Amino acid sequence: MTSQRTRDRLITLLEQHGIKNKELLNVLRKIPRHLFMDQALASRSYENTALPIGYGQTISQPYTVARMTELLLENGTPNKVLEIGTGSGYQAAVLGAFVKELHTVEIIDALYRQSRDLLYQLGYRNIRTHHNDGKMGWAEKAPYEAIIVTAAPEIIPDSLLQQLSTGGQLIIPVGKQNNPQKLLTIIKRADSSFQTIEHETVQFVPLV
Ligand code: SAH
Repeated sequence: MTSQRTRDRLITLLEQHGIKNKELLNVLRKIPRHLFMDQALASRSYENTALPIGYGQTISQPYTVARMTELLLENGTPNKVLEIGTGSGYQAAVLGAFVKELHTVEIIDALYRQSRDLLYQLGYRNIRTHHNDGKMGWAEKAPYEAIIVTAAPEIIPDSLLQQLSTGGQLIIPVGKQNNPQKLLTIIKRADSSFQTIEHETVQFVPLV
């Protein structure tokens, strides 16, 4: 079921779980999540759950996408953002509704191609997809006001910190494989030191 009523139910659930940003809730209401996954699973696409997208990867749980986006938008809408781990392209689509320029990097070629084509078909012209190892970030367009990582490393890659602008924030799950990971916001201060804010635990596939 991909009806508007099914979608609205998900939005109500996200609100009940504490997502407050109305603009974000409206964007989530509109984006066709069922197009970002295998059609065999489309009937489950408005459940609040992560689902397989092939190649051992998953489309993130809607609540997690909403939560990370809400954190990213907390201190105003950034212009230029980098996402590591394009996957299905769903998180990219959500961000693409807000930011002027989104760069997103995916390491698996087939997923990179799929999401690139889908995001283009859906009309996004402000999202640039790249096929690369995202641990190195995307230096060509650095610095970024925000970097969001949707796969979990055990250690924060230094190049991501380097590619933040002053006042910029990195939103990243950190922790061991198969364990719950800590969701962190790391802010780059004017003196180039970093401030870390810890949020709840999350469950992501590993950053390889
Ligand atoms: N944001 C995605 C979540 C996908 S799961 C979505 O909305 O669907 C995480 C993705 O990160 C997977 O597609 C995986 O292949 C990718 N990934 C893992 N390690 C990576 C790396 N080093 N560089 C770039 N992408 C990586």
